[in-house]
Amino acid sequence: MMTPLTVGEAGHVRYTYRLRASSTARAALRAEWDRCRWLWNECVARSMKAYAEGETCGPARLDKMLTEARSTTPWLAEGSSVPQQQLIRDFGKSRAKAQRDIKERLPMHRRAGMPQCKKKHEALPTLNYTKRGFRLKGGRLHLSGGVVLTVVWSRDLPAAPSSVRVYQDGVGHWYCSFVVPTVVQPLPKTGRVLGVDWGVKQTATTTSDAHDLPHPEHGKKAHKKLARYDRMMARRKPKKGQAASKGYREAKKWRAKTYAKIARQRQDTGRKWAKRAVTDHDAIAVEDFRPKFLAKSSLARKAADAAIGATKRALIEMGRKHGRHIRLVHPAHTTMDCASCGARTKHALPLSERTYTCTACGAVSPRDKNSARVMLIRAGLNPAGVEGIRPPGALLPEAA
Ligand SMILES: [Zn+2]
Repeated sequence: MMTPLTVGEAGHVRYTYRLRASSTARAALRAEWDRCRWLWNECVARSMKAYAEGETCGPARLDKMLTEARSTTPWLAEGSSVPQQQLIRDFGKSRAKAQRDIKERLPMHRRAGMPQCKKKHEALPTLNYTKRGFRLKGGRLHLSGGVVLTVVWSRDLPAAPSSVRVYQDGVGHWYCSFVVPTVVQPLPKTGRVLGVDWGVKQTATTTSDAHDLPHPEHGKKAHKKLARYDRMMARRKPKKGQAASKGYREAKKWRAKTYAKIARQRQDTGRKWAKRAVTDHDAIAVEDFRPKFLAKSSLARKAADAAIGATKRALIEMGRKHGRHIRLVHPAHTTMDCASCGARTKHALPLSERTYTCTACGAVSPRDKNSARVMLIRAGLNPAGVEGIRPPGALLPEAA
């Protein structure tokens, strides 16, 4: 028996805002990032050397390396120590994860790679500051090292943040992302539950027709644009060992801009849907979908996967925010089980088969609606709390 995971408990959540940075501040952030990038590459080189010599390069050794590097390299010591220490920690974590994956013999495509060098024009700046490394004063973000940034407060920060990440995206915009403890904003009880199945044609098929979410196809209009940028990049692609041309970097930037816009639209659609689903239901059972991102999958499949991913994340976040129970159900066999009697068909239904017909009890229902109900049952929720489904024993409605 698979136990669904409840993700309604308190935790942490990120709040992200655009930053307005003066040219001085931008230059200072860039300099901080150059130092961190240098340090990261130094970590890569040292840990490779240690590995070649049959030694381990653990956290203590990395910490020592930072202390030494800061005392012998004045340029490094000019920068704040907070993001540098955080970077050393991140490096250690990232390498430990890669080593664990090798040890567990995960298949290659699921393994986290060993941390790689960060190249000047490719790696996007990211700086992490723990509590002692930043301060909010008069609505502005003060970073250790003397950088002051104006935050565009698009929504209120609900609690005091424990850390902040300052980063630049592929388009060149700067953002800050605060980690804050979740503050639950309870909603009135509804007595209703919802089962959700993810799909390609319809992002979410639910046990309530009013809450189905058609695939928004955000990428479709931008598809032509993306294809054009891809061709431009291919044409301007730098030869091996050569630095990328300005034209290449520009095309790359436009492409990133288009992708970022699609991602924003997906997130927006996901959040609006999640708000409605969470407002109207006390508990929601949802397929714990994990995209495979296989190289061979079609563009439509990739777009659908991305939409599902964004919607699922929005639902979990919204559930947490409002203290609702979101239960993640393991996806195995959900298309094979009958929601009425629980019988399992011998073979998975082919995708072309849109109707589920149970050979055991004779129940007939649209395939995705059946799966959505299976989610509820697997999560241990009572389907009687579903709209439009008669509790057992209820009379059939009289023919009109
Ligand atoms: Zn059945």
